[in-house]
Amino acid sequence: MNERSDYINMLESNAVDPTPLREAVLMSIGEDSRPLAAAEIMAAVRSRMSINKVTLYRILDLLVGKGLVKRLSAGDRAYRYGMAKTRHHQAHPHFVCSRCGVMECLEPGLFCIDIRKFQTNSKRIIKYVDVRFEGICESCIKAQK
Ligand SMILES: [Zn+2]
Ligand SMILES: [Zn+2]
Repeated sequence: MNERSDYINMLESNAVDPTPLREAVLMSIGEDSRPLAAAEIMAAVRSRMSINKVTLYRILDLLVGKGLVKRLSAGDRAYRYGMAKTRHHQAHPHFVCSRCGVMECLEPGLFCIDIRKFQTNSKRIIKYVDVRFEGICESCIKAQK
């Protein structure tokens, strides 16, 4: 299977004109095993083609708005971006390293919240639960030793 066309297909099936930059941004997010900060996406795209900050943020807003990419809060000022419909199809918690700021995806079954229990006792409509673990990542622990 050709990965390149997968990203083009994803863009087209979400009514997004598949420009090379949009494809490169989506690919950078999709090819990484963890959600990325905008600066990391920019560095990944720049290894293939040139992009400026304004254009990158505009593309990220578009991809988030179209439901292709999920914007995740890491508790700091920079959002992280992960694929919404592939790895993120199943709700799962994230881990953020408070030392280096890396965000990692955790196993979906690791921490279960029964959203229905909250829903039955609430007049609010709950659409989305964001669970974030914070601590020290493996490589920061290794660097410490
Ligand atoms: Zn770390
Ligand atoms: Zn994730």
